Amino acid sequence: MGLQITHLGSGSRGNSTLLESDSCKVLIDCGFSLKQTEKRLTTIKIEPSSIDAIFITHHHGDHSKSALKASQKWGSNLYCNIETAIKMGWNPMSDCKTFGNLERIDINNEISVLPIPIPHDDAENIALIVSNGDGNRAGFVTDLGEATVELKRHLKGCVHISIEANYDHQKLMQGPYPDSLKRRITGRGGHLSNSQTAEILNEIMNPQLRTIVLCHLSDKNNAPHLAESEVLMRIGDEFKGMIFISEQSGPEFKIMIGGEKISSRINKEINDP
Ligand SMILES: [Zn+2]
Ligand SMILES: [Zn+2]
Repeated sequence: MGLQITHLGSGSRGNSTLLESDSCKVLIDCGFSLKQTEKRLTTIKIEPSSIDAIFITHHHGDHSKSALKASQKWGSNLYCNIETAIKMGWNPMSDCKTFGNLERIDINNEISVLPIPIPHDDAENIALIVSNGDGNRAGFVTDLGEATVELKRHLKGCVHISIEANYDHQKLMQGPYPDSLKRRITGRGGHLSNSQTAEILNEIMNPQLRTIVLCHLSDKNNAPHLAESEVLMRIGDEFKGMIFISEQSGPEFKIMIGGEKISSRINKEINDP
């Protein structure tokens, strides 16, 4: 039973990632408009109403924007923790299903999801460890100021990791943001810099890790080549897999887990009609 991962797009203007197993489809975050989400799904020939479940990591708009509307229109189950439901004004009895930290949720007996708490601003944010039943695990981590010991423990056995590389430290410091915002971004509740991400990946490196997607890159304070080179400089000797960058304009590639083939490109002509 394989697992396919498609980042529909990633960044401060919206995040959403599709997971597919044989007969189960899950979205992690739904931070684009409903129209944009449906457009991106149909680009890769996914009927939106075939989405079984939508997991929301935290209440910030770039992760949650059209989640409730999408779940109602498509008939998909919406999952989040109670704090996120409260902040979104969702009714935990009728609008969504809530889960606790480290409580495993099984979707259609095919995909299971484990939420790990991570520090981020005023949000009760979570990272997700996803498993497809054949022992392969994939980690999804965005919007955190630093990695906890618990998170790193769970990332250690993953064959795939999608993790934010939000900013280049030097670019942020020399950039236009006011000092207060710079302090917030670099603080414990902010975002990961390229070098923090590189360090985390170095710490959790294991021979099973095949694919890494760097995501949630800041338009103003980062660039794909900076993120990739910083990470490669740190882990390049040990890491024998492939690194991808998920940009705001996705989807651009599909990652396959549990099979021979590692990835496939999504045709851009079809993507931008
Ligand atoms: Zn975000
Ligand atoms: Zn956030």
